[in-house]
Amino acid sequence: MRWSRYFIPTLREDPADADVVSHKLLLRAGLIRQLSAGIYSFLPLGQRVAIKVMQILREEMNAIGGQEFFLPALHPAEIWQESGRWYAIGDEMFRLKDRKGTDMVLGMTHEEVFTTIARNEIRSYKQLPQVWYQIQLKHRDEARPKSGLIRIRSFIMKDAYTFDVDRAGLDKSFLDQREAYKKIFMRCGLQFLIVEASSGAMGGTESNEFMARTPAGEDLIVSCENCGYAANLEKATSRLAEIKDEAGPDAPEEFPTPGVRTIEDLTTFPGGAEASRQIKSLVFFATIDGEPRPVLVLLRGDHQLHETKLGDSLRATAVRPAQPEEIRELLGASAGSLGGVGAKTKSRDLRIVADSALKNRRNMTTGANKDDHHLRGVDIARDIPVDDWFELRTVEAGEGCPHCETGVLEIFKGMEIGHIFKLGTKYSESMGATVLTQDGKEVPIVMGSYGIGVERIMAAAVEQHHDDDGIIWPRSLAPFDVVVTITNMKQDELRTAGEKLYEELQRAGLEVLLDDRDERAGVKFKDADLIGIPFRITIGKKISDGVVELFDRSAKQSEDVKITEVVTQVQRLTSVQQ
Ligand SMILES: [Zn+2]
Repeated sequence: MRWSRYFIPTLREDPADADVVSHKLLLRAGLIRQLSAGIYSFLPLGQRVAIKVMQILREEMNAIGGQEFFLPALHPAEIWQESGRWYAIGDEMFRLKDRKGTDMVLGMTHEEVFTTIARNEIRSYKQLPQVWYQIQLKHRDEARPKSGLIRIRSFIMKDAYTFDVDRAGLDKSFLDQREAYKKIFMRCGLQFLIVEASSGAMGGTESNEFMARTPAGEDLIVSCENCGYAANLEKATSRLAEIKDEAGPDAPEEFPTPGVRTIEDLTTFPGGAEASRQIKSLVFFATIDGEPRPVLVLLRGDHQLHETKLGDSLRATAVRPAQPEEIRELLGASAGSLGGVGAKTKSRDLRIVADSALKNRRNMTTGANKDDHHLRGVDIARDIPVDDWFELRTVEAGEGCPHCETGVLEIFKGMEIGHIFKLGTKYSESMGATVLTQDGKEVPIVMGSYGIGVERIMAAAVEQHHDDDGIIWPRSLAPFDVVVTITNMKQDELRTAGEKLYEELQRAGLEVLLDDRDERAGVKFKDADLIGIPFRITIGKKISDGVVELFDRSAKQSEDVKITEVVTQVQRLTSVQQ
């Protein structure tokens, strides 16, 4: 490819609205342009990188028996109604009507379409397992698209689906995908970790996220260096130091607390209690089986609720904090004076759930469900009829690891680059995809689903591989293997040598960009550094001695090489594993 004819609109300055490194550099290097909020076009250089990513995805999916499909992006709402996701998913789903007024959906994932194919075509265990995948556009109406390619509304995804006759089959399929994902991210030159994650709106029983560690990430990852435990904050748990409570009175004692509204207020109130000796009481409405139900959530006073954990624990499709008037109706007091003691006598349908850190605590202080009054001496096991114990608190850095004795948890930012789910029978049951087993019994197909975002891989690669001068593409994703830079197009000797080398490198099977623009050498070097091609061969004055300069973008080092040997050397360098 000749740079003079190739469309690479590089920018000198950082675009004003770009907030993260990958966004700035992908724009500046001329890989992408924004069409609208969260909607981007790939320019030729960006498309070359995307194709490399997709090729790696195909190879690794095919290696585990994956069969490539291509499904429509536009779906009838009907299949989403069958699965229930039409109702469970909110405004993130693009919904539209066709000319006849039929509801339609732009797919965010393709469980429904693949399940439709499976239920129509697969009858017997003999046809299983199946591993199906596609590389397709997905649509998601993000509330706040941002960070360039990191949170977008229209994106390319490789999504795979497995179909097995039983759980054991699913376990194997899941493991195959997990291993393939590891290979994919290693080949893409990404540093990543695998974390336990919430399954959210996808449903299912178990899920792993693949996270690229980067400050541009939007997820918080909790990890233990000691044992390798890693989880998304929305799923993470911790081991807390045990608190020994002194025995309290035989029954809770009410005391007036005028003006006390918060946990903090009560820590300084005379006769109050430190935060870790208080019970925080929060009222939520959780949508379970389509019905909003009141839930009283109890946590240690110094702990913060994680709402995703609450929703997941309750298997709710949505949770929201109750309004002040709803709280008063349920418990007869305002938010600053609530508690679990006697709560069920005030409101019979109220479900009480508590965080595990409160287990066996006694002599605690909490609201009395009476404005400006609290109770002290509360023994949770004795005084509060807790319906369910869950892990609800937000884990904090420095807490103990839940998996090992000595590890201490750290928290850092990560970007989700892949997510794999054991779906189980959620879709096959709701949509009626069954098979006959060997014994002639009809059972729902056991499914898994597995997704990787192409743009996320590109963004993560740039976040993890760049410097002040620009992108440093991992060799596997680089738009070209090597750029040949002719420092002065007016000198015949340089131009002829450059052209000849360009031909030779291409014959050797390399992807070559020839910088034949009529520009100063300094401009050419800056652009080549910015777009991040792994190697640059500079044709300059030394050509009269048969010598060129070979520059390694990642090491930022150059060496003089004989022009007769440079092709073999670049071949050797580019064939070395990442
Ligand atoms: Zn640990």
